[in-house]
Amino acid sequence: FAVAPRALIAGNWKMNMDRVSSEVLASALAQNVGSVAVDLAVCPPSVYLSPVSVVLGSSGVALGGQDCHTAQNGAHTGDVSPEMLADLGCTYVIVGHSERRADHGEDDAAVRAKAEAARRAGLIPIVCVGETEAERDAGKALDVVESQVRGSVPEGLTGATLVVAYEPVWAIGTGRTPTADDVAAVHAHIRKVLGDLCGDAANVRLLYGGSVKPGNAKELMSVANVNGALVGGASLKAEDFLGIAKAT
Ligand code: PGA
Repeated sequence: FAVAPRALIAGNWKMNMDRVSSEVLASALAQNVGSVAVDLAVCPPSVYLSPVSVVLGSSGVALGGQDCHTAQNGAHTGDVSPEMLADLGCTYVIVGHSERRADHGEDDAAVRAKAEAARRAGLIPIVCVGETEAERDAGKALDVVESQVRGSVPEGLTGATLVVAYEPVWAIGTGRTPTADDVAAVHAHIRKVLGDLCGDAANVRLLYGGSVKPGNAKELMSVANVNGALVGGASLKAEDFLGIAKAT
């Protein structure tokens, strides 16, 4: 039988922290990564990637960006290329987070182009999908997520080159989460759709994201086809983030 991939707990710091608090948090994670049985990653604001990278050193805590441009370089004021993220030691880059889809008008095609650019640079894209509350209430959650996965995930990626995060928009930063059964249904569906797109999707890590806390991590992380978490608010405190990792 297939062995589940090793879990990944990734922290999405969003537009939070300052330089000193970023270094303090990264240092606490680097010192404690040996006490957890999962992979850890942090995605700081791009301006703090460099100091965080220095603090993480060879600790094994991986680094990721929160977004990237599709080009390698050029006349794109304010943007950061995936090659630049790789240059700073990033392993991952989040693409298509719902806040970017909403705030910056990124559609599935734009997200897929970013994921492809991430692969060009040798990064593992963490492709985010998730339905709104209205879509869930209308009974369309599975359809919406399927169409986002088909539109946003490049074909042919594998467990070594792709992570997908299911983040219901209504669960992000709200303290509300879907039931374990609802998470199980969506994750099983994503795995099946990825099978069409990628061939063998058994080893692709599927993260759940949206109000993951130390108190609900054990239940959410034990759901079938959940291989880790993308954590926002609770990733800003070492104790909470490590608590989630320990519960996984
Ligand atoms: P949250 O955010 O954990 O604060 O709900 C998750 C995310 O947006 O990645």
